[in-house]
Amino acid sequence: MNKRTFIKLFAAAMAVPALSRLLVWAGGERLKNWAGNLEYSTDRLYAATSLEQVRGYVKKENKLKVLGTRHCFNNIADSTDSFLSLKPMNEVIAVDPATRTVTVSAGITYGQLCPYLDSKGFALHNLASLPHISVAGACSTATHGSGEKNGNLATAVSGLELVIASGDVVNLSRERNGSTFRAAVVGLGALGVITKVTLDIQPTYLVRQYVYENMPLAELRDHFDAIESSAYSVSLFTDWQKQRINEVWVKSRVEERPVFNATPECFGAKLATRNLHPIAELSAENCTEQMGVPGPWYERLPHFRMGFTPSAGKELQSEYFVPRQHAVEAILAMERLRDQVSPHLMITEIRAIAADDLWLSPCYEQPCVTIHFTWKQDWTAVSKLLPVIEKELAPFHARPHWGKLFTTSPVELKRIYTKMPEFVELSRKYDPQGKFRNEYLNKNIFGN
Ligand SMILES: Cc1cc2nc3c(=O)[nH]c(=O)nc-3n(C[C@H](O)[C@H](O)[C@H](O)COP(=O)(O)OP(=O)(O)OC[C@H]3O[C@@H](n4cnc5c(N)ncnc54)[C@H](O)[C@@H]3O)c2cc1C
Repeated sequence: MNKRTFIKLFAAAMAVPALSRLLVWAGGERLKNWAGNLEYSTDRLYAATSLEQVRGYVKKENKLKVLGTRHCFNNIADSTDSFLSLKPMNEVIAVDPATRTVTVSAGITYGQLCPYLDSKGFALHNLASLPHISVAGACSTATHGSGEKNGNLATAVSGLELVIASGDVVNLSRERNGSTFRAAVVGLGALGVITKVTLDIQPTYLVRQYVYENMPLAELRDHFDAIESSAYSVSLFTDWQKQRINEVWVKSRVEERPVFNATPECFGAKLATRNLHPIAELSAENCTEQMGVPGPWYERLPHFRMGFTPSAGKELQSEYFVPRQHAVEAILAMERLRDQVSPHLMITEIRAIAADDLWLSPCYEQPCVTIHFTWKQDWTAVSKLLPVIEKELAPFHARPHWGKLFTTSPVELKRIYTKMPEFVELSRKYDPQGKFRNEYLNKNIFGN
């Protein structure tokens, strides 16, 4: 190395302050995902506080993964080499009333963003069942909420700042970058480190949440469309027992017309008289307020409250996106598996989601209904059940949730994600040496 190059490299290295190593995530334990079913393959975890630190780290490392809030159930976020956390990069950069957008640093969670946004008079179009997850991590896997007119959370993204493998910064916007943007939003962490996200916002609104109990499955079969379109967001919870939907969670915007009329009975289900957890045996303390009490959008659209454990805790999750036109057939096919499924199941949730144009979104160019399973934490049993479920759903070309457990083969994934070849091409441009790839991506996206 000549003297000039050495001085340049030395100066560059000095300009990037050392990243702080987060030695342990929790009390000296090995680094695990939220559910604790996956121990990550390294605990070399570093935290960046600025774009320059991210760039320096990306240039320096041959292999790395960004770790968001660790809420995926599979090894999509895993690394054998090192992790970069953007947790300290959690600020709101700008709320722009003129363009109706908010720009945030990518480590922010919905739980941090939403109250701030609401205090400025704005809201997001939808949220997942929990606010604890990072915006960048959620959008990267096409995380969704409920509501047949609502696209998944990634559909709110209108701009991204991305550090690609060379350390260069790429800015992409929905308006300017067309297909590259549509490829990058649901990027599965394969294209680079997202450092900023711009999201569409709208004026704040209030939501009322009602829960109905015990809807006969026959009502769902005969009136599926009417039930799904009855409110802004509808979620159906079932344990597949007794030919019924145990709970129907209905979230309606207060200003919306026609107003949701909370009659004591709805398609054979009875209006609940107390707050409920989706798993009726668990305390509703963790859940957002129900019984029609109006409240801000961010305290009603998720099922679970910030500051409390969402869902059950020690669990596994799987979820399949079925094209909307096959919803009833697919639900009935799952019901026929009840005796196999029920012993291992905590609860199933069924939701509707609008179509979008994001390449790797499971709702790419098709409105979907999702059939979700919260499992007891017994991977041996669940791993045997998933192929059975996937076989039943295969005729409907069901797409698995990228962040949950599935056994769908890479060949099938390529068949059902029609934009995968173009996505791979873009990844090769942004990350020619596979710096951001891991076992999950090598198997599911980049395998032959
Ligand atoms: C209790 C519970 C409830 C859930 N409810 C829902 C639900 O209602 N709907 C739903 O669709 N899903 C749901 N999920 C799944 C979850 O929302 C997604 O898996 C989501 O991706 C988690 O975000 P995360 O930040 O924790 O991601 P992580 O698991 O940390 O990472 C996911 C992926 O995003 C990448 N990534 C993260 N940050 C960045 C970044 N800055 N730049 C580039 N890549 C990045 C990672 O590398 C990885 O590939 C739930 C999960 C749990 C545990």
